[in-house]
Amino acid sequence: MRVLFVSAEVSPFAKVGGLADVAAALPRALSELGVDVRVVMPKYRGVDGKTDLNEIARFRVPVGAGEKECTLHEGTLPQSGVPVYFLGNDPYFDRAQVYGEGGGDYPDALERFTFLSRGALALPEALGWQPDIVHVNDWHTALVPAYLRAGEGPKGAKSVLTIHNLAYQGEFPWDARATTGLADEALTSFAHAGKLNLLKGGILSADRLTTVSPSYAREILQDGEGLEEVLRTRVDSLTGILNGIDDSAWNPETDPLLWANYSAADPSGKEENKERLRAELGLAQEPAAPLVGMISRLAAQKGFDLVMAAFDRMMALGIQFVLLGTGAPEYEEFFRAAASRYPGRAAALITFSEEWAHRIEAAADIFLMPSRFEPCGLNQMYSLRYGTVPVVRATGGLKDTVRDYNADRAMGNGFVFTDYAPDAMLSALRRAVVLYRDDPEGWAALRKRGMEEDHSWSASARNYLELYTELAR
Ligand code: ADP
Repeated sequence: MRVLFVSAEVSPFAKVGGLADVAAALPRALSELGVDVRVVMPKYRGVDGKTDLNEIARFRVPVGAGEKECTLHEGTLPQSGVPVYFLGNDPYFDRAQVYGEGGGDYPDALERFTFLSRGALALPEALGWQPDIVHVNDWHTALVPAYLRAGEGPKGAKSVLTIHNLAYQGEFPWDARATTGLADEALTSFAHAGKLNLLKGGILSADRLTTVSPSYAREILQDGEGLEEVLRTRVDSLTGILNGIDDSAWNPETDPLLWANYSAADPSGKEENKERLRAELGLAQEPAAPLVGMISRLAAQKGFDLVMAAFDRMMALGIQFVLLGTGAPEYEEFFRAAASRYPGRAAALITFSEEWAHRIEAAADIFLMPSRFEPCGLNQMYSLRYGTVPVVRATGGLKDTVRDYNADRAMGNGFVFTDYAPDAMLSALRRAVVLYRDDPEGWAALRKRGMEEDHSWSASARNYLELYTELAR
């Protein structure tokens, strides 16, 4: 099985959200199953420093009426033999950020991702390598299935489009459609609400669609950000496959970013991480106060209006709070102000930091993820692995990975609430705090159960391989 995997983000080369983690971990897991998988992404600024690069070819990629020079560089995905191909065009990709600066995408986003999509399809010929499947991800690469249908790129290859988040659709003015180079007939699939909508065109053009959890696959048929009707026409081709986590990068026993390593069998190092984190962030050493962590893009999707509405009542439960995140200025300001209102009890790290993300997962007792919607979510799975009990809203992948402790004490691995309301979130958090404080043995058993679960990619990668095999038949 030969798979060309196309993504705008691949960790560690470029990461904005969960897509980057998936685009690294899934190819790695597929390769372990014997799949000849090759990854292609843009050559953003700074990529050179992260892998040894060889320039192996140069070709031209049509964008709009013209053509752009593409330099093709080869590198390797760390901890694997998976080749990663970087499409270089410095005017497009040698920039400070992946998508844009100061909110919103760069104004030439359509050109940049047309270049990525068509460049990726030129790759098989440049390599003399014929994929069976071209697997694309989110709107940035959603033009690819339409190009394949139009006869561009490797002949006979089938397309899979994975939707990691339906909220981002790649909408552009309809007048910009010529940039794609698609014929009018093909473009009709991309017309939506008077605009050019890349994700919609991808949904209608791909051979198979997947999304990143079974619950989200069902939910988007009802509430699909305006694309529910389009998705319903493809229901027979849509599958939900839960993301896994990269359990080599996220393993508390070996994680080099932690102050102390620990395991389900011996979780004592977790306390040391909490003490060190409290010391570093100026939080009081208060053993009775559970430390509640959040690590997230500061976006409305993640339920921050609930947290803001309930914040003082959360703190009144006697917790400590630490947030790591960047994003919408109003949320950044709220958490900065909250940290100064609760000195010694709340901290806000308004930055993007892999190191702090690992340390908070290790140090916190409780991880809060009250998302309005959540296609899969990774942090609740990292939390389970790190013995940090998740408190989540029952939506999408959160619903598929976290089971409520009070509903089933023998099987539960966290605390779950359903209504998107501050009181519902508070009552789940209160249940967690009460167990933490009043029943240390019950808490330790709950924590251990989560740590022992297997959320690795191996099962999910097998599901993808089955889907490819069926499609390539
Ligand atoms: P989404 O893709 O919607 O952002 P996920 O939970 O699927 O949400 O994935 C988010 C990923 O990004 C996780 O790996 C999380 O740890 C990471 N992340 C988010 N914000 C930050 C941050 N400020 N610093 C470090 N990592 C972050």
